[in-house]
Amino acid sequence: MSTQRTAIVTGAARGIGAATAKRLASAGHAVAVLDLDESACADTVAAITDAGGRALAVGVDVADAAQVEAAVQRVADELGSPTILVNNAGITRDNLLFKMTEDDWDAVINVHLRGSFLMTRAVQGYMTSEKFGRIVNLSSSSAQGNRGQVNYSAAKAGLQGFTKTLAIELGKFGVTANAVAPGFIQTEMTKMTAERLGVSFEDFIAHSAAAIPVQRVGQPEDIAATIGFLCSEDAGFVSGQVIYVAGGPLD
Ligand code: NAP
Repeated sequence: MSTQRTAIVTGAARGIGAATAKRLASAGHAVAVLDLDESACADTVAAITDAGGRALAVGVDVADAAQVEAAVQRVADELGSPTILVNNAGITRDNLLFKMTEDDWDAVINVHLRGSFLMTRAVQGYMTSEKFGRIVNLSSSSAQGNRGQVNYSAAKAGLQGFTKTLAIELGKFGVTANAVAPGFIQTEMTKMTAERLGVSFEDFIAHSAAAIPVQRVGQPEDIAATIGFLCSEDAGFVSGQVIYVAGGPLD
């Protein structure tokens, strides 16, 4: 039986974050379900509590330092010291470079990079005190470059450097940091991309699946399973890695 800990998953109202929160709860952890709108977390929390687990919904904008500090304090008070953190909250504001606004750039950089920085800074003290921590940051195959995503690919590549530096700084405290970089995952995010491109989600999925070696797109549970391993006791010697979970090889 593994030790029961307190985990925080950001952007956990739906998609990859919701699947990850449920996966960590099924491993016996109490899970703080963070998202912009606290009421939007209700379904994830109910799924965990209905299955006999412990969960807490917390509304927070991860890009806002004061909100992040208050949210992490609330998690520590109500669920216990958080020693697992999954920085998953994310947005896209796609456009070709010449049409991209400063707001598109700032919004994406702020949620992914500033948000992961603020959350990790707020949580690291609990991890170093406990001499145990697991940090997983959501990167993306887009870190290698993707047309229309100069903001998003920069943020996701930035998270890889962030992750490696966390691993170097925090390793001596029993804290690991890794990045999971998904390929195409079927969520609201990719549904919105299909809408932007003017194609049906079904056609977008079929077209994408044909180019993936395993011949299917990913599901949120595919990513949650990898994150679940990286957050486990068994993964203590895996740190500073970027793991592509994309149905085929990516460097
Ligand atoms: P999603 O379905 O759009 O879910 C993202 C969640 O994050 C939403 O509930 C969203 O809330 C929340 N969020 C956005 N901004 C936030 C903020 N400032 N503070 C707190 N929460 C915020 O996305 P997903 O597809 O599950 O993606 C999850 C992560 O995986 C993201 O980091 C994404 O970049 C990454 N990823 C996804 C794919 C893919 O194919 N889907 C591939 C590679 C990487 P609102 O609904 O209120 O905005």
